[in-house]
Amino acid sequence: MVQVAVKQATDGQAAKEDVTGPGGARPSEARTDLEWPRIGAHVSAAGSIEKAVANALEIGAEAMQIFGAAPQSWRRKQHDEESVAAFRRGVAEAGIGPNFIHGIYLTNLASQNQGNMEKGIESLIADLRLAARLDIKGVIFHVGSHKGIGFEEVLPQVIDAMQQVLDDSPDEAALCIENSAGAGDSVGSTWDEIGAIIDGVGSDRVKVCLDTCHAFSSGYDLRDDGALDRLMVEFDREIGYERLVAVHANDSKTELRSGRDRHENIGAGTIGEQGFRNLLAHSAFQQAPFLLEVPGFAGKGPDAENVAILKTIRERARARAN
Ligand SMILES: [Zn+2]
Ligand SMILES: [Zn+2]
Repeated sequence: MVQVAVKQATDGQAAKEDVTGPGGARPSEARTDLEWPRIGAHVSAAGSIEKAVANALEIGAEAMQIFGAAPQSWRRKQHDEESVAAFRRGVAEAGIGPNFIHGIYLTNLASQNQGNMEKGIESLIADLRLAARLDIKGVIFHVGSHKGIGFEEVLPQVIDAMQQVLDDSPDEAALCIENSAGAGDSVGSTWDEIGAIIDGVGSDRVKVCLDTCHAFSSGYDLRDDGALDRLMVEFDREIGYERLVAVHANDSKTELRSGRDRHENIGAGTIGEQGFRNLLAHSAFQQAPFLLEVPGFAGKGPDAENVAILKTIRERARARAN
């Protein structure tokens, strides 16, 4: 049921964009409920992977992100067929999605350490294989840090590594680059860098997850309507709207262009309600679930309160648009 409905919304958007052209579609025209982004969250899959579904439902999430393995370790636990089937059944019954796996934090495709490079590639392949088994749309990952060598220097190895990952993983799972906050020597903090990687890899399976906190910290001002429009036009030119498949919805503890990666609860940070209202209303984000990775009001990660706040902001954006 849900699959069919989402498909219809996708077709509707495609038709609309043909008329308005890239970057030109403004949210003023009336949309159906299905054309507003889903509000989701990163949830725990600890214990057994199907538990993620109950964790998502408990906080009101309409889509979810999970880790496929412990994020600070190279070791992976194998998921048995029973858990995988229970996960798929739970997702279908609850109508949750689109869903994503977040790659582990140790992966660095810009590393100069050959052993680490190989382990990072293996880890992404394992996550993509798991995504396909779980009927999950894709794996979101941080490209990594070049540690002072420079973006141009590491670009060929990043491209080569991603091609290896794609060659050795199922076609149905997308490999999604997450924009970085620009701290230190992180790769992929600008649309320009992400676009260069995508051009080099040359695969339709490469998609993008836009993290709002990281974008703001790296200098993209999401609070201002006009500025958001301009930066999304640039996004469309360098990357293409069709690549945008997920949003990490995080407010920021730090100022614009801080270069720092400090997530804050929605509305309590420097992006604020207005920033999220702009994002939810912008036509580029219609099909991308907004996945929370916030600290939570009890400090335990994404919670019902943050989901409710973002849903309220979506209601306000919708009221304005109608
Ligand atoms: Zn993120
Ligand atoms: Zn972050």
